[in-house]
Amino acid sequence: MIHVYACPKCQSILSPGERIVLVGSSGGERVLVAFHPQPGNYEVWVPPGVELKQGALWSFFCPLCCTDLRSPDNDKLCALEVITNDRPRQALFSRIAGEQATFIVTPTAIEHRHGPDADLYVEQEMQLKYIRY
Ligand SMILES: [Zn+2]
Repeated sequence: MIHVYACPKCQSILSPGERIVLVGSSGGERVLVAFHPQPGNYEVWVPPGVELKQGALWSFFCPLCCTDLRSPDNDKLCALEVITNDRPRQALFSRIAGEQATFIVTPTAIEHRHGPDADLYVEQEMQLKYIRY
């Protein structure tokens, strides 16, 4: 199944090949980060010398319009548009390095939950609330 990811603001395709490419920032460092397009596959690529410190909070930005991709509904998650078989939905993924939680959502439902850490989020009033703390 082919998933195409787009910026929710400028609609640019952010997965031109077999990776999703975003600008990532953590601890003052700003780098390109590539993700596997299959929801639930947590392989990630960063430039040589960049360390993904477990538990570090990252910010991700559209490489074209620079929009902060943080979800307006949950500060711990980033939001991208994902189009699968011509069907647009939203893909939400954790901003915390090492936390494996991804959600595919429509305006009315959470369709899929992926990753062993998805249980850290509970659905409340159609929003995903973080329950770790
Ligand atoms: Zn954009």
